[in-house]
Amino acid sequence: MNTAQAVDYLKNYRGRPLTLMEICGSHTAVLERYAIRDLLPESIRLVSGPGCPVCVTPNEEIDRLYRLALTSGVTVACFSDLLRIPGSEGTLQQAMAMGGSVCTFLSPLEVLDHAARQPERQFLVAAIGFETTIPLYSRLLELSIGRGLTNIRLISSLRLMPPALKHLLKQPDCPDGFLAPGHVSAIIGSAPYEPLAKSSGRSFVIAGFTVEQVLIGLRDLVFLTDSHRAAVLNDYPQLVPPQGNTLAQAAISRYFEPADMNWRGLGTIADSGLKLKPEFADYAWTEWNEPNASPKDPKTAICRCGDVLSGRMRPRECAAFGKSCRPEHPLGPCMVSNEGACGLAYNYHQEARA
Ligand code: SF4
Repeated sequence: MNTAQAVDYLKNYRGRPLTLMEICGSHTAVLERYAIRDLLPESIRLVSGPGCPVCVTPNEEIDRLYRLALTSGVTVACFSDLLRIPGSEGTLQQAMAMGGSVCTFLSPLEVLDHAARQPERQFLVAAIGFETTIPLYSRLLELSIGRGLTNIRLISSLRLMPPALKHLLKQPDCPDGFLAPGHVSAIIGSAPYEPLAKSSGRSFVIAGFTVEQVLIGLRDLVFLTDSHRAAVLNDYPQLVPPQGNTLAQAAISRYFEPADMNWRGLGTIADSGLKLKPEFADYAWTEWNEPNASPKDPKTAICRCGDVLSGRMRPRECAAFGKSCRPEHPLGPCMVSNEGACGLAYNYHQEARA
């Protein structure tokens, strides 16, 4: 199967109506950049899933980070795509404008130098991410402990993809098949999808991130789903062995253990997140578990990111898309994040701006 054959197959598909989900935000970016959704006939509805880590972080967590950034003696450290995510009270960027302390990083390991230079400050690391990113936080802890730094603490908002998929598969409007996330799969391997496919009767295709890989993965997913095969197909074997990256898995389980986690759009899912093991409690920000006291902001309340992230709605079906919600004044995280489905749909399609 080459790319031209995949395109031809998808354009001329005449099988049963299918709803498919791409889970990974990086796949969403390729689909939008190359307008691949526009190739598909109406009988294939391709929706986005909960694969943008910043987007699935619920409002109450954003609100707590906002308050922490405004707390004396504290610096919130995070990836830069968190800065403009709207919470009920404001964004971290607005907190900075009000004198709050936030530092952004390309790698969490950058926090080590900041913490060593400013021992009087507490550096609270907003640890947001999926399996792909979690080993970096393990390394941060390893180096913090090794260097004797006591002013770095993790706010764990780390999420695991298989429990979220299991949750989605139990929903009555569950998609018929899934384009599995390539980056996460590189860590967990292809094996965890086997029981999910078997119990749900759905297919999972693991795909890479070039336009060719996405097109061929999508073609394979349509073919398998149309023929009712509950299969796992690994179209990305160069990076995804069945057992995954066992070194990364060991790095994760050395410091973290499963915990219930709240996802925007999916709710609280048992064991779908990670918290630090009790022996590393000194490196956790435990106040994180305080009950949410955020006021409801009318702007963020009308946002339907939860429906976008659970595949119930496509970005353009939101009444606010391209009108009251645009990248320059977003109502929800899906319009801000680099991997957010709404922002990607808006930025890559001129007609959305009309
Ligand atoms: Fe939320 Fe804006 Fe997306 Fe609508 S278009 S779901 S308001 S981010």
